[in-house]
Amino acid sequence: MPGEANKENSATEMKKATARTKQATTPKAKRYLDCSICRTIPDRAQADWIRDELLGDPLPKAESRLMVVGAPFFVDRHSHSHSCLKQCPECDTFYGWDFSYEYLVHGSEDEVVLTRLSDAEGQRRARAVFTTIEADETKFRAEAVPRIDTLLDSPDGKGVYGAAYFLQGGQMRGHDVSFAIHALVKALVRFSAADEENTYLESCASLIYLVLSDAVKESPEAAGRVLDILESKGVDATNTELKRVKWLIADCRKPLATG
Ligand SMILES: [Zn+2]
Repeated sequence: MPGEANKENSATEMKKATARTKQATTPKAKRYLDCSICRTIPDRAQADWIRDELLGDPLPKAESRLMVVGAPFFVDRHSHSHSCLKQCPECDTFYGWDFSYEYLVHGSEDEVVLTRLSDAEGQRRARAVFTTIEADETKFRAEAVPRIDTLLDSPDGKGVYGAAYFLQGGQMRGHDVSFAIHALVKALVRFSAADEENTYLESCASLIYLVLSDAVKESPEAAGRVLDILESKGVDATNTELKRVKWLIADCRKPLATG
């Protein structure tokens, strides 16, 4: 019967198609077998500690070469129970990393589990990582607006430390703070020039310096902007008496020289 023959044909075609798909995907999915990092990592590895003493084997050494997806927002710190997604820098294979912590009297019971993931699962988790980071950055930018106003306008410096601390928190989670550079530089000049005996304003200037210093070390563009803002404010870059402004100028020149 022609119908039967067609059915048979289509079944054969399907088998052939499946075989082709397997040929196409198997080497890709198993590429970790040829990877100098991943081939020493089993599909699932676990390490356990009781009161800081390792029980059994540690995780394979190559685990330390995996990158945390979405760092520094996500980290693999052994501090509280949490999870992150890791990825091999050589072959892009994804891993789930889960740390669990259980309090015991006189110590704790800790466990780390590393699990190799399929590409589909890894990509799904990676999308979730970046969605979380984007949402946090949007919230951070919105909440920074009143803090920028405080940096620019606070007549007596009230709230300035809190504003700088908020910006530093976002920066430590990996968010760009270049939108705040103008306000930070203006505040740095203002509080660096304040009476040195005023320890509150001193600590404000120190913290603002740290935020700016990190920002310019990361980006020659930010360094160029800082120098332009200082110039527009009439700060003599070669001969300023303000020590934190002097340090910042030196920090700016390093990335400009190399970048
Ligand atoms: Zn790999």
